[in-house]
Amino acid sequence: MSAIPAKLQAVRLAMKAAASRAGRDPDSVRLLAVSKTKPAADVLEAALAGQRDFGENYVQEGVDKIAALGPLLPPGCSLVWHFIGPLQSNKTRPVAEHFDWVHSIDRLKVAQRLSGQRPAHLAPLQVCVQVNVSGEASKSGCAPAEVADLCRAVAALPRLRLRGLMTIPAPVDDFESQRRPLRQLRLLQADLVAQGLALDTLSMGMSHDLEAAIFEGSTLVRVGTAIFGARNTI
Ligand SMILES: *Cc1c(COP(=O)(O)O)cnc(C)c1O
Repeated sequence: MSAIPAKLQAVRLAMKAAASRAGRDPDSVRLLAVSKTKPAADVLEAALAGQRDFGENYVQEGVDKIAALGPLLPPGCSLVWHFIGPLQSNKTRPVAEHFDWVHSIDRLKVAQRLSGQRPAHLAPLQVCVQVNVSGEASKSGCAPAEVADLCRAVAALPRLRLRGLMTIPAPVDDFESQRRPLRQLRLLQADLVAQGLALDTLSMGMSHDLEAAIFEGSTLVRVGTAIFGARNTI
């Protein structure tokens, strides 16, 4: 019993409720369904319930799933695939060839390779720079002090389109502690916009801190567990 459509609906309602409490337009927050470790059948179920954006963390798993979904989708239904996991520079090619977005750019070398490998017939790869705002949460992400330089360099790459910033804060329970690193990301982004970078995406908020993220201005929440249930082991 998966009940994916019901959980998807519940997440959408929670997002709407948070947006209205925060005084924001509910349509200004996009839902990315994180399907890592879940089979293509689960993605299909969510897609048939209207979900279009999906996030994957592991290169091979993601590429296999994208290929598996192709023939299963009804005509006219095309999905948007986001790569959100750590990306090694020797694994960039399949990501450049098969994904629409990458949220986890944390160094220039990876961005340069993605730009060089993005096929000419595809739209530019939409990217976010991942920032390690709280400093201790994960080893991934560039330091806040390095964000501006990295963003400027990424924005200049021909086959990438820089859309904004992404973060994965340390998991905490209380609302105010959740908001702190998310606010930091929002302020960093506002600073970059003031410096002339055209950024429209704040990729922040997961199953446990979706509401705090929407209060702090998230435009894209990445939700796995609340839609697909606990992760499978792969
Ligand atoms: C797994 C993952 C998510 C989803 O996390 P949940 O807690 O299951 O909602 C979001 N973002 C990233 C980068 C992830 O790796």
